[in-house]
Amino acid sequence: MSVATTVDYARIERLASLIREAESVVALTGAGISVPSGIPDFRSPGSGLWENVNPMEVAHIDAWRADPERFWHFYGNRFQTLEDKEPNGAHHALVELERRGKLDAVITQNIDRLHRRAGSQELIEVHGSIDTSSCLTCGRRYPIGEVRARLEASPISVPDCDCGQPLKPDVVLFGEWLPEGALERAYALAAGADVLLCIGSSLEVHPIAQLPGVTRQTGGAVAVITQGPTPWDARAAVKLDGDVVAELQALVAAL
Ligand code: ZN
Repeated sequence: MSVATTVDYARIERLASLIREAESVVALTGAGISVPSGIPDFRSPGSGLWENVNPMEVAHIDAWRADPERFWHFYGNRFQTLEDKEPNGAHHALVELERRGKLDAVITQNIDRLHRRAGSQELIEVHGSIDTSSCLTCGRRYPIGEVRARLEASPISVPDCDCGQPLKPDVVLFGEWLPEGALERAYALAAGADVLLCIGSSLEVHPIAQLPGVTRQTGGAVAVITQGPTPWDARAAVKLDGDVVAELQALVAAL
């Protein structure tokens, strides 16, 4: 079966014409864009990272504070599964759109740093990223390679800061606030967008779920490029429901 059969070219063309007329296009991405890279979407039943574990228990800021060893036992595995993954054609298609001046920024919920590694320049990681971990006591920050080395060297598998305190990955854990600067930028971009491309996101996790509404209120159009239903499907100017890589590559080709 050819991948091309999954692409709805009439809808791709409608989206391409919206983008041609737009002064500002912004992408909002979620877990679905990383699925073709082999990173499971934990919200999909049966493929879940969280299936055998209660995320509120292990990926909560209180769990990190109370029991860093247990926290890092879970998170160390997660680092390992994310670290060797590569960006896919959908990440690269967004880089190409930005390079051509057709895309102003990518706002992502993903912590896998695949947009960064693909080469996206204007990138807002609203849930942080595994790229670095920090010491909440002295503020020192370490790159992922160093964190992995400290994790492996530690007899209890907890990476420590030079000051002796356990490190925390620079991702937003349950129970933590989203970084304010990143959120403000995301809202401003959504408000200024003529087209908001919502890619691989169920658009259900707040406050990101509010961004399509911000775009619509300021007169912009919302396009949903996500498998499965989202609360925005009926109000979207275009809904694409197929293979995200094939669809974004077709979009690049159509522009
Ligand atoms: Zn420290």
